[in-house]
Amino acid sequence: MCGIIGYCGREIAAPIVFQGLKRVEYRGYDSAGIATLSDRSLLVKKGVGKLDEVNSQKGLDAIPGNIGIGHTRWATHGGVTEPNAHPHCDCSGEVAVIHNGIIENYQELREQLISNGHRIASETDTEVIPHLIEDEMKKGNSLKAAVLAIAPRLEGYYAFLAISSREPDKIVGARKGSPLAVGISDQGFFAASDALAFPDYVTELLPLDDHEMVVLTHHGAELFDAAGNRLQRDKRRLTSRWGEANKQGYRFFMLKEIMEQPRVVEDAAAQNKELFTDIALDILRAGQVIITACGTSRYAALVGRYLFSKVGRKFCDVVMASEFHYFADSVDKDTVVLAVSQSGETADVIEGVKEAKAAGAKIVSIINRPMSLLEDISNHVIYLNCGPELCVAATKSFLSQLVVFYLLSFSMINAFDKAVNNLKRISSEVSKTIDWNNDKIERLSHELKTKNDFYYIARGINFAIASEGALKAKEISYIHAEGMPAGELKHGTLALIEPLTPVAVICPDDYTYNETLSNAIEAKARGAYIVAISDRDNEIYDFWIEIPKVDELLYPLITVIPLQLLAYHLAVSRGYDPDRPRNLAKSVTVK
Ligand code: GLU
Repeated sequence: MCGIIGYCGREIAAPIVFQGLKRVEYRGYDSAGIATLSDRSLLVKKGVGKLDEVNSQKGLDAIPGNIGIGHTRWATHGGVTEPNAHPHCDCSGEVAVIHNGIIENYQELREQLISNGHRIASETDTEVIPHLIEDEMKKGNSLKAAVLAIAPRLEGYYAFLAISSREPDKIVGARKGSPLAVGISDQGFFAASDALAFPDYVTELLPLDDHEMVVLTHHGAELFDAAGNRLQRDKRRLTSRWGEANKQGYRFFMLKEIMEQPRVVEDAAAQNKELFTDIALDILRAGQVIITACGTSRYAALVGRYLFSKVGRKFCDVVMASEFHYFADSVDKDTVVLAVSQSGETADVIEGVKEAKAAGAKIVSIINRPMSLLEDISNHVIYLNCGPELCVAATKSFLSQLVVFYLLSFSMINAFDKAVNNLKRISSEVSKTIDWNNDKIERLSHELKTKNDFYYIARGINFAIASEGALKAKEISYIHAEGMPAGELKHGTLALIEPLTPVAVICPDDYTYNETLSNAIEAKARGAYIVAISDRDNEIYDFWIEIPKVDELLYPLITVIPLQLLAYHLAVSRGYDPDRPRNLAKSVTVK
């Protein structure tokens, strides 16, 4: 997490860095800061709050200088305070560093630094970096040599950028396990956690791998290996589509991203038939298939699991990425691991995948962000093609993941083309679902906004949608919500149902309808307020969210839409910013 960006060029750096931080603010927004080099001096401003708040208090975008680095934080080590905000400096105030990641041995390094006379100003792990650089530069090393010297001492993972007033013409960056993209343009040179941070005129990237470093000057971007040898890399084009990241008139990214979903279904279905056939064959031949993912992606994987079984007759397991590691002993060369991550940089997913790969497993990654860490360690990569998703809570990437699982399952029975045609038709049903329900759900949210406990139930292929609906409510509306298989309700949770407790029932007219309805009636008998998401009306519903009738394997693509809208409208009616939920950030690059 955390968004970092550095700029070195002819323009004034701070406004460019500030705008770049705005584009990656989804990565963290508890505090922010910028440091620049101007007239051989290091200037630093930072504070607590979202970027605009810190800017209006401190004037982040008004610092002079043509070289600047900036940070928007998601705290891991040390509270959300001004001293803990980045950039962090050395004792002399000559070196400033911004960092994404965790320095796992920071306590040991910090003790050594303190016993050598350093004054440490924050509680963060990051602050050891500028002090270590200070020591190296005092020995006469250049900033680049200092970074090369300290990198092997840093355990854990990082992407960091450092500047020094002793060498006021450059930014030095290094990465290990955290993303760092290098961008080049006629107006200057950039490094950032995500290429999204770059202005539109940056159209080319230089790929930077783990254990490598970059030096940005006014003349270019040079890459080096861990021994300091210059690396020659071919530039890659940055696709313009990925740069489209504004709200397009919507109040929040979340609403914009929900509204994009009819198109997203078609874009996610535009896949390479040969690639899908190859992957489907690998899955069918594999001794075991494991899907690993976290959060919303894991719920997409659970739908995938039903599809693989129902269509492809292939059983697979879904393992939460943060727990996958503990099952590593069971992975072998007959295993296919499907790793699902919107960002392609989720630390928990990457850790498990690396272990699985070392055990000989074949890795298929399903990702959205191009050129991500997961891509480099996978045998096959499937892109979601849904463009940047900037709301922390995932919506359109989830729908795209469902599309990919649908296509994979039909590829197992050699019916890729049929699946693509089915998906083309479903796009207009997604539109209908939004049109029929958006205003209605907004009204419902006003009725329910004072409720603090919600339950979501469904069966079979729809069960994961109940869990996803509950997750959305927790993430952005701060409502305690539980999603579960409808049949499980009576095995404990029913005890929590009181008069007027909202219970969302996902009961499309498919093979799960009758049994799910019975469970809803059981909840209703205890006074629950039943919100039904169904194409079939019933007298027991207190509130009916009508959806169009579709093929039963495609209901998850439809039933999730009203639940996304419900979470969105609940958040807004409760006075919260759905794009920036408290304590969370997108692209979870820490374990
Ligand atoms: N560990 C650093 C801090 O707490 C950076 C956090 C991150 O990258 O998420 O400030």
